[in-house]
Order: sequence, then structure tokens, then C-alpha cells
Amino acid sequence: MAKDWLKGAKSAYDTIVVGSGLAGLTAANKLAKLGHQVLILEHHYNLGGLATWFKRKGGHILDISLHGFPIGMVKTCRKYWTREISESIIRLKNIRFDNPQFSFLTSFDKADFTRVMKDQFGILQKTIDDFFKTVRAMNFYDDLSMTTRELFEQFFPGRNDVHRLLMEPITYANGSTLDDPAITYGIVFANFMDKGVYTFQGGTDQLIKKMKKELLKNGVDIRNHCMVEKVLVEDRTVVGVRTNGREIHAKTVLSNSNLLSTIHKLTGDEHFSKEFLEEVSKVRLNDSSCQVYIGIKKGEKIENVGDLLFTSQEEEFKSESLLEPETTSRTFSFYYPEIRPGANRYSIVSSTNARFKDWANLSRAEYEKKKDRLIEKTLKALEKYVPDIRQKIGHLEASTPLTFKRYTKHPGGASFGTKFEGLQVSRNLPKQIAGLFHAGSVGIIMSGWLGAANYGVIVANEVDKFLHHLQHQPETELETANV
Ligand SMILES: Cc1cc2nc3c(=O)[nH]c(=O)nc-3n(C[C@H](O)[C@H](O)[C@H](O)COP(=O)(O)OP(=O)(O)OC[C@H]3O[C@@H](n4cnc5c(N)ncnc54)[C@H](O)[C@@H]3O)c2cc1C
Repeated sequence: MAKDWLKGAKSAYDTIVVGSGLAGLTAANKLAKLGHQVLILEHHYNLGGLATWFKRKGGHILDISLHGFPIGMVKTCRKYWTREISESIIRLKNIRFDNPQFSFLTSFDKADFTRVMKDQFGILQKTIDDFFKTVRAMNFYDDLSMTTRELFEQFFPGRNDVHRLLMEPITYANGSTLDDPAITYGIVFANFMDKGVYTFQGGTDQLIKKMKKELLKNGVDIRNHCMVEKVLVEDRTVVGVRTNGREIHAKTVLSNSNLLSTIHKLTGDEHFSKEFLEEVSKVRLNDSSCQVYIGIKKGEKIENVGDLLFTSQEEEFKSESLLEPETTSRTFSFYYPEIRPGANRYSIVSSTNARFKDWANLSRAEYEKKKDRLIEKTLKALEKYVPDIRQKIGHLEASTPLTFKRYTKHPGGASFGTKFEGLQVSRNLPKQIAGLFHAGSVGIIMSGWLGAANYGVIVANEVDKFLHHLQHQPETELETANV
């Protein structure tokens, strides 16, 4: 008989969180700490969503999205998780760029970037200061019509090399391009420039293990292998979900599933107004990724060639070319033994941005061939930095946009949720259906580990307010709300 993954689950909760990405987990923890009864339903056997890892024979542990995040994650983890989690966050020291326009190592913070821009690119101190001041001051209420391309042209006209320096790492970090609103660039770039790039010592597996322990301590009911099939709505009010064929009631549902899936698939267009659906139709998904995972044999070592390496053979920078299947622009993340102290192991993960359509609709044989080619091109690129890499490999495999879709259920295997317009739609969801909330990668800004976790907190506060209001509503008001 199939295992009942919902055995012992209650028939009703205050909040059901659909999905266990960093936004879902952080929101669940916050709500549980506020005293609400919370159930997390995750279809995968692991928690974490894209913040995940996998193990392979030979003692290999490979991280998917642990490349780097801004310092803000320390505060977020301390405030909304535990001191222990926040104290495991460590700084990456060496970020390396190598392409036909420039090649150097940096600590990736304001002081060092200022030095590089002045000494290597010949930019005047005042221009650099003005640029940093402008991006630092960017906020939601700014003029959103300015694109990142226009912002760069204003400060560094015609300097494709400077545009590349400033944009390429952010394109990898959140999928944004030169044609996205400048605010999506400014907020993320300024976050990184604050104090550099950070990672989680212990690896993603340890982070999620610690988060799970904390959730359980705070009373969250966590269920893996539970696919939410439907958000149940009556009279434009959430009443629960259907998962693994069973209905569970809830006063609120917080979906960490993709925004468009939440609306069209889980809830159903029939529950939304025409005007809202019109806004939804304008929401563009972000692109996806390919990765190559390289586990180094036990006992083998690799020299330190940098923690993060942005490498490319493209003569000039164009956002679109980063998505091409034949792109030579990739990020290598090097995991040295310090990342998982005690294990004394090394691994390398290569990431490229990618389009779903370039990988969908291939025959099995074509798909495998394309994957093999991706692996081979990646190893060739890596040989420049680790010449004897092929002899050291203990495990090798690749993922594509199809892999990301399969494991996260994001349409198109979207790595960073939606483009900017998704943010407002996500915010407006509860105005359409009472008790239905969304938190997760949207609008570029609310994506990445920090953005997703912080968005989880913002939305958890709104869920709390809603539940509080329900509790203190007079009986008659409750009745009319359901009419
Ligand atoms: C290759 C790659 C590299 C990245 N590198 C970095 C990095 O270095 N630094 C950084 O900060 N960010 C990085 N990111 C981005 C970052 O990982 C994500 O933005 C963030 O983890 C997303 O969190 P989320 O809360 O939006 O949800 P997700 O992680 O997308 O999780 C959503 C969860 O919902 C579950 N789910 C969906 N539908 C259902 C359903 N119907 N029923 C049950 N469960 C469901 C999914 O299984 C999943 O677990 C990277 C992303 C990728 C793809």
C-alpha cells in the first residue's frame, strides 16, 4: 500500500504554506513563532526548494544555489531563524572575473570596486561616488521607467566594459538584464556592494537541517511528498487546499509555488476579476539555468583559484548572449574544504543562464547529446583554471531547465520567479481572494536567498494581521464576509 504522507495531520490549520522554498520556510517559522498553527506541504522529498543539494556515491555533496548572497542574510537569519544559523554565514574572499575585456580578483565590495573602476577602468572618483550614491538611494517609489541600460549610459556612456563589470554578476544572481527597470539592478547591486558576498558554512544540507529543527521546535507540521493540487475557495475566500487527494481546511493559504501556477493552476481563473487577470497576463517569467556538477575524488585537491569565477570568452557584453545554448559565459563556484569543515572535500558547480525552449521538445537522444556537449564545453572552460581537472573528477552530471521544472514545478524551470511586474500581482492576490497570499521569487528584487526569505517575512506579517482581524471580528461580520 502507498505510504500516507499525511498520516496524523489535522483537519484544519490557521495557515497552510504551499512549498518549502526559503520564502515559504521563513514565513512558516515567523507565523509559528507568532502562535499560529502552520502546516507546510512540499511535493519534493527535501525542504528548501531551489536552496537545495544532492548526494552521490563516493561521498559527493553538490549544492545547487549556494553561490553567494549579500550580508543582509546574516540579519535575516538572526532575526527570523536562529543565532546559530546566522553565525554560520561566512564571507567569500576572492571573486574573480576573466573575459576578453578584463581579468582580476576582487573582494566584491564598494571599496574594492571603486579601486578597480578607478585604476583599471580609468573612471573618475566623482563619477564612481555619484553612481554608488544613486544606486544606494533607489527605492520602490522611484521612476520605474528608467532601465539599467539607461542608468549605465548616464554614468558610463559607451563603456561596454564597465557595463559588463557592473551587470554580468547581477545577471547571474537574479536573471535581470540591461532592459529591466534600473531599480531591480540598483537594489541588488547595492546589497552586494555593502560588504561583499557571503555563503553558508556547512553547506545547504546543514542550513536546511537547522531550519527544519527550528520549525519543528516552533510547532510547524511539515509534510514532504505532498503535492498541493488545488487551493479551495468559496465566495472569494480561502477555505483550504486539496493535497494528495485529501482536503485540509485553513483560514489562510500562503503559496510559495510559482506566482502564475498559484493563480492559474492551483486557484483557477474563475475566482479572479477580469482586470486582475489582465494584469496577470502581462507577467513574464524569468529565464532558467543549466548547471554542471563536478565532484572531486576523495583525497584529490585543487588549488585556490577563487571562490566565484565569472568567466566568458565573449568579446563584448550582451545580456541576451548569456542565455544562448552555446554561450561561453558561466559562473564557476568552487567549494573548498572550509565550506564543509571536517569533510575535506572539494566540488565545483558551473552555472549558466538558459532558456527553457532551447531544451524542451528535444528527443531523448538529442537531449542527452546536448547535455554531454554542455558538460564537455564546461570542462574545456575549466581546464584554463584547473588544468588537470579531468583526472580529479569523481562525479560529473548536468541539470537543465527541464530539471529545474521537474523539481520545483516552476513553469519554464524559472530560476528567479518573475520579472518586475510580478511583484504587484503577488501583492494584490489577497485583495482578490480573502486569505490567499503569495511569497516567493517575484519582481527580481524579491528573489535570491535574501530576497525570498525577506519577502516571506513581509507576507507572514500580512497573514498574521489577517488572522488577527478574523479572530477579533464580530460574529455577524464573519457571516457577511462569507455571503
Ligand atoms: C542555478 C541557480 C543558482 C542560484 N544561485 C543563487 C545564489 O547563489 N544566491 C542566491 O541568493 N540565490 C540563488 N538562486 C536563486 C534562489 O535559489 C531562489 O531565488 C530562492 O531560493 C527561491 O526561493 P523561493 O522561496 O522563491 O522558492 P523556491 O525555492 O522556488 O521553492 C518553491 C517550492 O515550492 C514547491 N512547490 C511548488 N508547487 C508546489 C505544489 N503545488 N505543492 C507542493 N509544493 C510545491 C517546490 O517544490 C519548491 O520546493 C539560484 C537559483 C538557481 C536556479
